[in-house]
Amino acid sequence: MTCPQPLRIGEILQKAKAVIPSIDQATVYRNIKRLVEQGWLLKITHPLAGTMYERSGKEHHHHFYCRKCDSVFELPGCGINDEHVALAGMTVEDHEVFFYGVCHECSQHLQRT
Ligand SMILES: [Zn+2]
Ligand SMILES: [Zn+2]
Repeated sequence: MTCPQPLRIGEILQKAKAVIPSIDQATVYRNIKRLVEQGWLLKITHPLAGTMYERSGKEHHHHFYCRKCDSVFELPGCGINDEHVALAGMTVEDHEVFFYGVCHECSQHLQRT
């Protein structure tokens, strides 16, 4: 996997358990909450993938969701021009955009079959 991906709670739980097998879910949840409050982690609420977390402080970017394999990929950069989207008199401060489709791996699989 070359793309950095935001993680879902289940994936974080899995990773935490791999390091500390005795760790319980409540502890992991508590730590995630603390990291979000401290600004280390960013909570993303994705309309299809659900709640995800990623490291904060990254450059502005968007996410791509693969409908086939249920994976989320980070898309670097942004092609959206806030000023072009806004109507006269509006000041756009931020935006959130999610892309959907079929990822590279699934596209290849589709071509083979
Ligand atoms: Zn896929
Ligand atoms: Zn953007």
